[in-house]
Amino acid sequence: MLSPTDAFKNKECIFCKIIAGTLPCEKVYENDHIFAFRDISPQAPVHVLIVPKQHVVDILDVSSENSVIFQNLFGAVQQIAAKLGIAGSGFRTVFNSGDHACQTMYHLHLHLLGGTQMSGSLVG
Ligand code: 5GP
Ligand code: ZN
Repeated sequence: MLSPTDAFKNKECIFCKIIAGTLPCEKVYENDHIFAFRDISPQAPVHVLIVPKQHVVDILDVSSENSVIFQNLFGAVQQIAAKLGIAGSGFRTVFNSGDHACQTMYHLHLHLLGGTQMSGSLVG
């Protein structure tokens, strides 16, 4: 199992601390490569952050060498959406990257949002 070893941990990173268990969270899913937990400031009834255990900064930081992250992220979306009962009603998935997207946490995370009717606008 790929645990968050020192090689993968960024000591300044809140999400690395959550993955390591040194900061609390409401965990919803975990596998060898992925950890998922509820957003501390939810913007929908279901708002989960799905993160790789490996510290990568954003989507630009994923390459052929760590592309296993992508495979596992999408698998995790399917698992979590089913587990939380939003697979049928629908959901939105969002990666924020950089300043224009208002990324605030520089550990790659996929927002999984659902449990309510959302608008068609993607740019607020
Ligand atoms: P970003 O704006 O970078 O795409 O999203 C970062 C998300 O992380 C925000 O939705 C924010 O509420 C969430 N967040 C920030 N700090 C914490 C924390 O300590 N715990 C949890 N569970 N979520 C956090
Ligand atoms: Zn990190």
